[in-house]
Amino acid sequence: MERYFQPEIERASREEIVRIQNEKLVKQIKHVWEDLPYYRKKMMDAGVTPDDIKTIDDIKKLPFLSKADLRDAYPYGMLAKPLKDCVRIQSTSGTTGKRVVAFYTQHDLDLWEECCARAIVAAGGTNEDVCQVAYGYGLFTGGAGLHGGSHKVGCLTVPTSSGNTERQIMFIMDLKATILCCTPSYAAYLAESMKEMGYGPDDIPLKAGIFGAEPWSEEMRHNIEEMLGIKAYDIYGLTEISGPGVSFECSEQRGMHINEDHFYAEIIDPDTGETLPEGSQGELVFTCLDKEAFPMIRYRTRDICVLTREKCSCGRTHVRMRKPQGRTDDMLIIRGVNVFPSQIETVLLNQGYAPNYQIIVDRVNNTDTFEVLVEMTPEMFTDNIGAIADRQAKLSAGLLSMLGIKAKVSLVAPKTITRSEGKAVRVIDKRKV
Ligand code: ADP
Ligand code: ZN
Repeated sequence: MERYFQPEIERASREEIVRIQNEKLVKQIKHVWEDLPYYRKKMMDAGVTPDDIKTIDDIKKLPFLSKADLRDAYPYGMLAKPLKDCVRIQSTSGTTGKRVVAFYTQHDLDLWEECCARAIVAAGGTNEDVCQVAYGYGLFTGGAGLHGGSHKVGCLTVPTSSGNTERQIMFIMDLKATILCCTPSYAAYLAESMKEMGYGPDDIPLKAGIFGAEPWSEEMRHNIEEMLGIKAYDIYGLTEISGPGVSFECSEQRGMHINEDHFYAEIIDPDTGETLPEGSQGELVFTCLDKEAFPMIRYRTRDICVLTREKCSCGRTHVRMRKPQGRTDDMLIIRGVNVFPSQIETVLLNQGYAPNYQIIVDRVNNTDTFEVLVEMTPEMFTDNIGAIADRQAKLSAGLLSMLGIKAKVSLVAPKTITRSEGKAVRVIDKRKV
């Protein structure tokens, strides 16, 4: 079975990758200089012209773009192609504010869908597979990206979109779907619902899941894998850079390979903007090397990440990124301590809870309050009061040792926390309101 969608690129030598990147960057910077006045102005302000950009290392001379620039330029200010050449828009989920609109030419769509096809093949997908795409369709990039990728691989594509959980399960079972694509929180919800309907891992025809669009922990991965009887693969992306498929996991599952023939990645210090050496943790920055309509240059993702070029035994040579822990704006600062929701998730799942929780932060008398609502599983719920109190104490202690600050833990009855069909909302921060 072929394990690569485009082997000549996915296994290219480092020299070949750098050659491709050099060539594409030079061309791309000419394109934005000529066709994107917004970025030309930024370059002029920074005293850089296309003549200064000869190799990929010169990228450090170029100015950054951020979400604020995109909001500034909304809707058409960041468009680098005439409208007649554009065929699609997609938009961010708006998780952290006003939505951002991105544009695609047909070339851009093909490139994006090929990246998603690489991800599906890396998860073992072939034209024999039935691939159910349960990411939301519409403006959100999840549905459109995996749908296009599934077509390119030649899978029988089942475009269910998200939601309608009963119908979702009916199609998985009736059509014998082998690959499921959705957010990890929706996968967990589907797994829970299938268990309630009496389906065990051996009854479920799925063999692989391609889950992404939000942070999820290793513990959550194991949970979903066990309940559905699958191997679960991570996929990462963002609308500004194209959508899902910017990077994806291979069978080694030790970081996600970035499609670096299209997207050049850097890690920077979020405070100084300085580029950090390989292996350092910092903010992930992407440059689109050959997208036409919406060519983001040194776009600051705000995702906190680490890159590695260590050899991967899958044979792919593309740089890998660690699972992003969260983004700079996901990180809560509670009583001066940095807290990522993913750390809380790790503690919960290690103690046998399902990933159904909510974090509530508020400020009372100038002090931050920090409460974690955690749903008990149906089995825990039938425990006696003493056992429940013990569980609660154990969870408080676990959170304290992971985070270094104390949380008020409230165990709630099963099914009281709303399930997510797309990106889960884990944090309610009342301090900002
Ligand atoms: P929004 O920024 O409104 O959520 P997008 O739908 O474009 O819009 O989401 C992109 C963001 O989703 C990324 O910047 C990242 O923070 C998060 N994300 C996407 N895939 C993953 C993943 N596999 N793991 C962790 N976070 C992810
Ligand atoms: Zn690999």
